Amino acid sequence: MKLASVWMEHPSIQLNQTFTYMCGDFDVQRGMRVLVPFGNQQVVAFVDHVEETDLDQHTYEIENQIHLKMIIKMIDKEPILNEELMELGKWMADQTISNVIQCYQAMLPNQLKPKSTSGSIKKEVFAHYVKECESLTIKQKELLDVCKHQDCLRKDMYAKSVSITKKLIALGCIEWVEKEVEFVGEHVHDLEKPLSLTSHQQLAFQQIQSLPQDSICLLHGTTGSGKTELYLQLTQQYVQQKQQVLILVPEISLTPQMVKRVVRRFGNQVAIYHSNLSAQEKYEQYQRVRKQEVSIVVGTRSAVFMPFVHLGLIVLDEEHDGSYKQDSAPRYHCRDVAIHRAKYHQAKVILGSATPSLESYARAIKNVYHLVTLDSRVFGDLAKSQIVDMSQEIRRGNDILSSVLQQKLTRVLQQKKQAILLLNRRGYTPILRCSNCGHVMKCPHCDVALSYHKDDHRLKCHICGESYLADPVCPSCGQKQWRFLGVGTQRLQEEVQRLFPQARVLRLDADTSMKKGAHERILSAFERQEADILVGTQMISKGLDYPNVTLVGVLQADALLNRSDYRCVEMTFDLLVQASGRSGRGNAEGEVVLQAYDANHYGIQTAAKQDYLSFFHQEMQYRHFGQYPPYTYLISLVVSAKDKVKGYQQAQEMKEWFVQQQVQVLGPSELLKRQDLERYRILLRGKDLEKMKQLVRLWNQKRNHKWIVSIDVNPLYLD
Ligand code: ADP
Ligand code: ZN
Repeated sequence: MKLASVWMEHPSIQLNQTFTYMCGDFDVQRGMRVLVPFGNQQVVAFVDHVEETDLDQHTYEIENQIHLKMIIKMIDKEPILNEELMELGKWMADQTISNVIQCYQAMLPNQLKPKSTSGSIKKEVFAHYVKECESLTIKQKELLDVCKHQDCLRKDMYAKSVSITKKLIALGCIEWVEKEVEFVGEHVHDLEKPLSLTSHQQLAFQQIQSLPQDSICLLHGTTGSGKTELYLQLTQQYVQQKQQVLILVPEISLTPQMVKRVVRRFGNQVAIYHSNLSAQEKYEQYQRVRKQEVSIVVGTRSAVFMPFVHLGLIVLDEEHDGSYKQDSAPRYHCRDVAIHRAKYHQAKVILGSATPSLESYARAIKNVYHLVTLDSRVFGDLAKSQIVDMSQEIRRGNDILSSVLQQKLTRVLQQKKQAILLLNRRGYTPILRCSNCGHVMKCPHCDVALSYHKDDHRLKCHICGESYLADPVCPSCGQKQWRFLGVGTQRLQEEVQRLFPQARVLRLDADTSMKKGAHERILSAFERQEADILVGTQMISKGLDYPNVTLVGVLQADALLNRSDYRCVEMTFDLLVQASGRSGRGNAEGEVVLQAYDANHYGIQTAAKQDYLSFFHQEMQYRHFGQYPPYTYLISLVVSAKDKVKGYQQAQEMKEWFVQQQVQVLGPSELLKRQDLERYRILLRGKDLEKMKQLVRLWNQKRNHKWIVSIDVNPLYLD
C-alpha cells in the first residue's frame, strides 16, 4: 500500500507536522499538490514524501493508531518543486521558526501555492489540426491550413470565419485543445552594448572575478560608482557560460532603472518578477524560468525562490535594504536565502551597497565576506552637503524650507537644472488637532494620529490603511477650529508651489502612485525634464539616475532618529546617503541640503560627509556598548491580545519561561496598538543563536496555541 505524508494549512493545525493519506491508484510524488479530506472538509495539501508499506490498511491503522483516509485527487501532474527547493522550504522553516507549509506557500507564485484559495491558471482554447477531408471547399481548405503547422487561437479562427471554423470542427478536421497562456515578450531590438569599464571598475571587476566560485563578495561602492555596470558585465560572463543569474533589488518601484538597464542589455533572456505583477503574470514568469527559457531573473525578495537549475551568480543590490526581510510569517531575510541557495549551486554572491548593513560590513572586516571597494564616481565627485539647523530657521519663520534651500532652489530653477526634495511623510499633515479643546484625531483601531490628506479631504491611518472623510466639526467640542500640525509631502508640494509659482512640481508618494503605471509615468516625466522639482517620500531616495539633478534637499533629516529602535541611526544614515547620491550624477556639480533639528548627531554629520567608515566605527561602538547586533543576536516574540491586561500577562509568563532557561530577556515592552490588538514584545538576546532558536522551538511546541504570538528571528524593526 502506498502512503503519502502531506503538509497542509488549517486553523485546527498548530504544530508543524505532516499527515498520512493513502494514495490508492494515484501516481502521487513528492512535491505535488493533492486534495485530501480533513475533518469534514476538503483541503489542499502538499506531498512531503511517498512510501510503500507491506502492511494492509487495517494493520497499519492499528499499529499507528490512526484512521487512514484516501487522497481525493491529484492537483499537479508533476512535482512543482524540485529536491533543492523542497529542502529549502524545510531549512527556512527551521531558521525562521515557522511552519513548513507556510514556507512552501511563500516560495510559490499564487497559482501554484499549496492552499485552497490559490488562483486558477489562465488557459486559452486553440484549434488543433487533426486531418484533411476530401470534400472541403477552397475557403475551408484555406482556414484548415492556418492551423496545420501550429495550433491557432480559437478567437483568431473565429475572426476569420465562425461558420467555416464550426464546419471544420463538425467534420473532425480540427479539434479544440486547451493550453496555458504563455508569456509573450516584446522583442527588444538593438540591445545595448557593454560600456568600457573605468580603471576603478576594471580593478573591482578583476577582484570579483578572481574570487573562488563559492564566495560571498561585499561590493561597497559609492552612489554613482558604476556598480550596476559591473553587475551587468559579470552577468554576461555567466550567461555566456550557460549559467543562470539572479539579480535581486529592493521593491521594484524604488529601483525602476535597474530593471530597464538589465532588459536593455539582455532583452528577452530576462524574466522580471515582483509584487506589482498580477498573479497570472507572476505565474508566467515563473514558468519561463522553470522551462529554462530565460537565463536572467531580475526581481524583488520572492524572486529568490525561482526554480533555477544551474545558478552561477546572485547579485543582491542595495543589500542593506529593509524590504529584503519579509514582515509576516515566514519572516525570512532574502539575503540569508540567497546565500543558502548559492551554497547549493556553488554560485557566487555579490552583496552591493553604498551603505552596507552593519552586520555585512562587520563580516567583511572579519573576512567572512570578501570586501571589494569602489570609492570614486564614474562622473565627477560626490555632491557637497550642507546641514541646516532648523531650530535657527524656525525663528526666522521658515519652518518648512530653510532660506539656504530656498536660495539653492532659486538657482536650480534659473539654471534649468532639476531638484529632488525628500520628506519621508506622506499626506498633508500628520496631525489634525482642535485648537479649541486640543482633541487629536486618532485611528480607532491603532494607537496613532490620523494623517490629513488634502487631495481627497480624508483622514487616513498609515498603520491599518482605514480612511475617514474629514469632518469640519470636532467630535469632542463641536467647534470648527482644526489646526494642521506638521508637514507631509502634499503640504510640501503646496509650499514649494507657493514660493516658486513658475516651477513645475511633481510629487511621488504612495498616494500619487497608487494606480498601476502611475509611478513610472511620474518618473519618466521627471526624466524627460517635464518638471523642475520632484517632491516625494523615500520612494525617490534610491536607484534614480538623472544627470540633470543638481540639488537634493532632505527635510526632517533627523526624523528617523526619534524612533525607539536600535537601528534608527543606521536607517537615518542609509536614507541620507542614498538620497544625497541622487545629486550631481551628471557632469555638473551636485549639492545636498540636510535640514535637521539634531544637526550635530553623528548619524547626520557622517552622512553629510558620506563617510561610511566613520559612521561604521561610531555605530559599532554604540552597538557594542548596548550589546546590540551584530555583537549579539535577537529573537523577538510579540503577543497580541484584545485585552491589555491579558496581553501583558501572557508576555510576562513567556518571559518567565525563558528566564528559567537562562536566556537574557528584555521587556515586555508595550507596542502601539494595531488593528484593535494590544501588543507586547519580549526580546531574547544572546551570542548563541542556535541555542536561542532551540529554546524558542521547544517553547513554541508546548505553548498555549490560543495565544497570538509572532516570532521573528533577527528582527529588523523593533517599533
Ligand atoms: P551605482 O549603481 O553604483 O549607483 P551606476 O551603475 O548607476 O552607479 O552608474 C552611474 C552612472 O554612470 C550611470 O549613468 C551609468 O550609466 C554610468 N556608467 C557606469 N559605468 C560607466 C562606464 N564604464 N562608462 C561610462 N558610463 C558609465
Ligand atoms: Zn488604524
